[in-house]
Amino acid sequence: MIIDGMADRPIKDLGYKTPLEAANTPNMDKLAEMGINGIMDPIRPGIRAGSDTSHISILGYDPYEVYTGRGPFEAAGIGLDVIAGDIAFRCNFSTQDENGLIIDRRAGRIREGTEEIAKSINSLKLEGFEDVEIIFKESTGHRAVLVLRGGGLSDKVSDADPKHEGKPPKKVVPLDDSPEAAKTAKILNKFVETSYNILKDHPINVMRIKEGEQPANVVLPRGVGAVPHIPPFEEKYGVKAVCIAETGLIKGIGRITGMDLIEVEGATGGIDTNLENITKSIVDVAREGSYDFMLINIDGADEAGHDGQIGEKVNFIEKVDSVIGEVMKLDNICFILTADHSTPVSVMDHTGDPVPIVIKGPEVRVDDITEFNERTATKGGLCRIRGSDVMNILMDFMNKSDKFGA
Ligand code: ZN
Ligand code: ZN
Repeated sequence: MIIDGMADRPIKDLGYKTPLEAANTPNMDKLAEMGINGIMDPIRPGIRAGSDTSHISILGYDPYEVYTGRGPFEAAGIGLDVIAGDIAFRCNFSTQDENGLIIDRRAGRIREGTEEIAKSINSLKLEGFEDVEIIFKESTGHRAVLVLRGGGLSDKVSDADPKHEGKPPKKVVPLDDSPEAAKTAKILNKFVETSYNILKDHPINVMRIKEGEQPANVVLPRGVGAVPHIPPFEEKYGVKAVCIAETGLIKGIGRITGMDLIEVEGATGGIDTNLENITKSIVDVAREGSYDFMLINIDGADEAGHDGQIGEKVNFIEKVDSVIGEVMKLDNICFILTADHSTPVSVMDHTGDPVPIVIKGPEVRVDDITEFNERTATKGGLCRIRGSDVMNILMDFMNKSDKFGA
């Protein structure tokens, strides 16, 4: 179970405690007391891990090998069947004016109608590039995903998103000298231009303009990545795996590694998420017994960290504590609780500080730690490990790993 971005740095307003130290977390503390504790560098000491690269590392894959960008995981997370070699992008629906300038990068934070808008772009054939399949699907809000499929493509291209309003879409340029990158850049520039031509008069946008809302009349791709060749988790470890996650990014990691996904109603990925439903899903799936491994990600603490909200982070950690209390009641499981990175409220982004980790299981060597937090964990029996050690340690505790040597 990964509590996204839960770890933090000491905060003056909390008497130099971290939110996890300041929060009242009787269940996490009980887990620490019953298990073996340590700290973990999700990738390597000091590396500021993204949620994606950290999860990849914790699942035992090398992020430096399989990760080229966020796009493929976002695409898989919204249910697109991406295949190795596809080039995938995250996109924004944005608003472009008659002068070709982006006046709203999020198209008035559009919420409704994006499915219909996306349909008018999906399967589009671009003139001169009819051999390339265009797969386009809406995600939540103003977000969407673009997948290019076909020969001669590359992920070595820049973003179209200018990142600031009042500028035109950024011209996509190839980032190396290959003909593949040159072709992909041309396709993207054509795609952005064509998206505007198709969407400017789309009925949903005509209606939005009439209602005084910004139209979603252009699509701006960014976050390019090539879908990696990745050995399925089940084959790699010989366990049947399932993923319960809130955000498209983590669901995508579950899907690309071949896990089954459980959708939880009311799981928003924010601090307002429905933790009761998440708890129920975890407990139901575990009791039902058809999986050996469950990847759980709960996202709210990361959001509070990015927003710089100390109180909200402490409150959310306290709420998550009750989820842990219920999971601890399950019999005969190895339970790992950790975070994928620190998201200090002072930094409002991820940092390279290690995160606490605890493992409870039938035969783990329990240490003397009785509280779960960044500081106490440093004195635990696991000492300091890397994300890439986690699956090895778990498979060993589950008696599912092979001996190295005679
Ligand atoms: Zn994260
Ligand atoms: Zn984050």
